[in-house]
Amino acid sequence: AVREGAAEWNGVGATADDHRVKVLGNVGSPSDAKAAAEAGAEGVGLFRTEFSYLDAPSEPSVGEQRAAYTAVLEPFAGKPVIVRTLDAGADKPLVFLSPQAEPNPALGVRGLRVAVDRPDVLERQLEAIAGAAEDSGAEVSVMAPMVATAEEAAWFAERVRAAGIARAGVMIEIPAAALAAEEILAAVDFVSLGTNDLAQYTFAADRQLGAVASLNDPWQPALLRLIALVGSAAAKTGKPAGVCGEAAGDPLLARVLTGLGMTSLSMNAAAVRAVGASLATVTLAECEAVAQAALAAPDPTAARAAARG
Ligand code: PEP
Ligand code: MG
Repeated sequence: AVREGAAEWNGVGATADDHRVKVLGNVGSPSDAKAAAEAGAEGVGLFRTEFSYLDAPSEPSVGEQRAAYTAVLEPFAGKPVIVRTLDAGADKPLVFLSPQAEPNPALGVRGLRVAVDRPDVLERQLEAIAGAAEDSGAEVSVMAPMVATAEEAAWFAERVRAAGIARAGVMIEIPAAALAAEEILAAVDFVSLGTNDLAQYTFAADRQLGAVASLNDPWQPALLRLIALVGSAAAKTGKPAGVCGEAAGDPLLARVLTGLGMTSLSMNAAAVRAVGASLATVTLAECEAVAQAALAAPDPTAARAAARG
């Protein structure tokens, strides 16, 4: 059986045999960032920039955006931060970018698709992010939400680099993107799995609907198999893959994700210490063994039991 519940965490994400897995925070505001830093997060794996603008009647100026992002980045001076470009649409509509009424907003023009429609908005946001990186001293990377193809990933990476930002990545939260992870990784520097949306689109189950919550369980073996594909693509290409969906904050699942090849996990501040402690208690080989057991399980309950050993 795998040992559970280490008492302490030394603040450096790693397994007991020193395989590095960065333990990062998910943030959307300056107070989130402060909480993540205080909890010991080694950086930020997901800064949801759209949270700043849910009620904004018009597009904030580059200067306003730069100041808002700097306030979030400041607690992480000298540390890695992944800033996500606006994920507008579906469950997070922005007034100034609201699309035409759509019959299925979750399948409509959201995330990167909005940026493709409005490259000028993306360009101004990238300029503000590059400025905030300078002002805060954080080591900033940028990633796009809702990417479906390698072509979209390459389109985005080109714009990020043109803005003078060194590292460009994309989220893998559409099943097609998980299946094309190798081609996507060829176009960008890293990927990050959004397991909330990846589960929603894999099981065709609305993430906001309680009636289908059991399908949206991140322990579903079919979801773990998609994550395993991305882990293999990362190993093959030598580029990093992480998880920034809610799944990363489950201390037991964190071991499975590590065993599937994820090298960073990003979560709410409240989960940071427990995940760091959980990883410190097991070796990479133990993580790989529990990952294989969970992958082979017939359902989420069996996958959890298999991971407990
Ligand atoms: C996700 O989909 O898992 C994710 C991290 O992004 P969001 O929850 O903001 O859609
Ligand atoms: Mg998402």
